[in-house]
Amino acid sequence: MSVVYTLSVHDITSMQVDILAIGVHPDDVELSSCGTLLRHAEQGYTFGLLDLTRGELGSRGSGEIRTIEALDAARKMGAKFRENLDLPDGFIQYDEATLRKIITVIRRYQPKIVLANALDDRHPDHGRSAKIVADACFYSGLLKIETFGEDGQPQVKWRPNALYHYIQDRNRKPDFVVDITDHLTRKMEIIRCYRSQFDDHESDEFSNEVKTPISGKDFMAFIEAKGRSFGREAGYDFAEGFESSRYPGVKDLFDLD
Ligand SMILES: [Zn+2]
Repeated sequence: MSVVYTLSVHDITSMQVDILAIGVHPDDVELSSCGTLLRHAEQGYTFGLLDLTRGELGSRGSGEIRTIEALDAARKMGAKFRENLDLPDGFIQYDEATLRKIITVIRRYQPKIVLANALDDRHPDHGRSAKIVADACFYSGLLKIETFGEDGQPQVKWRPNALYHYIQDRNRKPDFVVDITDHLTRKMEIIRCYRSQFDDHESDEFSNEVKTPISGKDFMAFIEAKGRSFGREAGYDFAEGFESSRYPGVKDLFDLD
């Protein structure tokens, strides 16, 4: 049973969002595409968040702590909602049940753009969920796959216009980058909502927990450095990188920096 946290009350009549950002673990979206979401929210686009698991296998903290942190982050980001499918961390399966759950969420919110995990990454869940989400986006557009909303009524088919994979841990060549120079400070603040995961505070309540490759100060420096690296070729101070399985099109060459 998925859990929905509606975070903004000003537009509850409309379930639709422009962008649905999906991560297999709460914090994937924040680490990799938070600046892009902040930028688009500033331009008036709406977005929501879907986590496939609670990240309960993370060495530090717990699924419950992570959920509290994730809601804090979602509020700070300005997300319209944050939903969690509560699938098993580490053991998420490519099967009909998982696909149907994701299709139901896509059809509920009818996003024009979906953001998903990297196609291949250090954490094996990332690549696996990238494939599941990509296929769910396609199947969501098939008339004969029937799904039902929370009201028990059949949902209408919906295929997002575009699916982009945010690059997270491993170095991959982006197909495009998004300028997040003006949003880096807020991005780093939002990442720090995950206090159990990223231990770069002076007196941290989680400082006695096990050290992991992402728990030290150097990890935050790595996130910033990654942003600098993605931005450099396009002439931005900081950027986030994305891959697309199809050619991204542009109608005006002057839209490209
Ligand atoms: Zn992850």
